[in-house]
Amino acid sequence: MQHKFIKKLLTILIVLSTMSILFPTADTYAAVKMNVSSKTLYVGNSTTLNVSGTKKKITWSTSNKKIATVTSKGKVTAKKKGGCTITAKVGKKKYTCKVTVKNKTLTINKSSVTIVVGKSTTITAKTTPSATVKWSTSNSKIATVSSKGKITGKKKGTCYVYAKGNGITKKITVKVTASSTSSTTTTVKISKDKVVCINPGHQNKGDSSTELNGPNSTVKKAKVTTGATGVSSKISESSINLAVGLKLKTELENRGYTVIMTRTTQDVNISNKQRAEIGNKASVCISLHCDSSTNSSAVGAHTICIDKSSSLYDTSYKLGLNVINSYCTATGINSKGVVARSDLTGLNWSTVPAIYIEMGFLSNPNEDLLISSDSFQNTMAFGIANGIDAYFNA
Ligand SMILES: [Zn+2]
Repeated sequence: MQHKFIKKLLTILIVLSTMSILFPTADTYAAVKMNVSSKTLYVGNSTTLNVSGTKKKITWSTSNKKIATVTSKGKVTAKKKGGCTITAKVGKKKYTCKVTVKNKTLTINKSSVTIVVGKSTTITAKTTPSATVKWSTSNSKIATVSSKGKITGKKKGTCYVYAKGNGITKKITVKVTASSTSSTTTTVKISKDKVVCINPGHQNKGDSSTELNGPNSTVKKAKVTTGATGVSSKISESSINLAVGLKLKTELENRGYTVIMTRTTQDVNISNKQRAEIGNKASVCISLHCDSSTNSSAVGAHTICIDKSSSLYDTSYKLGLNVINSYCTATGINSKGVVARSDLTGLNWSTVPAIYIEMGFLSNPNEDLLISSDSFQNTMAFGIANGIDAYFNA
């Protein structure tokens, strides 16, 4: 009888120990996860990743230590521009975070100025990520510079002004001329005949009635579409285009340009052909757009110009190239270069150099949040204005 009881007890114990192998401790079943799945860092900056839901040992590794390193505690340090994957190994499971490393930037709107003794000019500097810019002069007897980049001519001669920020130094050559030479104020003065049309793409509600795709076309396309929507921000493309457009208007006017806007509010109904016709009153026309894709990982910006069959190709391409280069330098957004197309109504009806800029992807959660942010839109407008300056000063 007692013997039988022990045998029964043993059987229970064997069953229980088998169960604990098949169904391990609760720890494995908790929601183990990494706090972020992707992260953008600037060279030199660090962030600490963590895996929650486990008490087990975590082993951290990087797919490329030249791009970013990781310590045994999950602290990631950005080393060089590029992308890599940080992996946290917990038992047999792996959790990953994609890390994008970008260079810090400092851009200035002029690299040389000529000013008359007693006169001033201001250099604009932008930093990504945002940082304080320190100004200095190589010779304060010739020209001084304020903490805001305002340069004042003191005595005839040449000196250098330095802008320093994000670990980058930019040099501006300053030529100070005697007050009797009243002909020049700055070497990069924009003449009044430089008129820029800004067309913030789309509008609050599209208009699906059609119009001819171009003067030599029989194809009809919708007059104007509603545009995309930010996957994270839920902000409409048309309102982002308008916000950047209004900032670009201010920036260009501050630099001496005359600006024509195709629209300044959301509640309009202006077709793409009508917008091109407004643009034809200017020297150049810039249409602002945001991209969208079914692939949520697609990122980057590009400009679009008319294709090679047009006599405006060369100048439009030059405008597109200057704008995309300056835009991507200022914003740190990945450049996809210039694309030539013959199917866009807005370009086909243009009689002046015209481009579209696709400023970034609203279908990518990170890029959407970036380009829909008010402060970043200042940098976007600054970058586009630099490109327009570069085009006119070439
Ligand atoms: Zn668009």
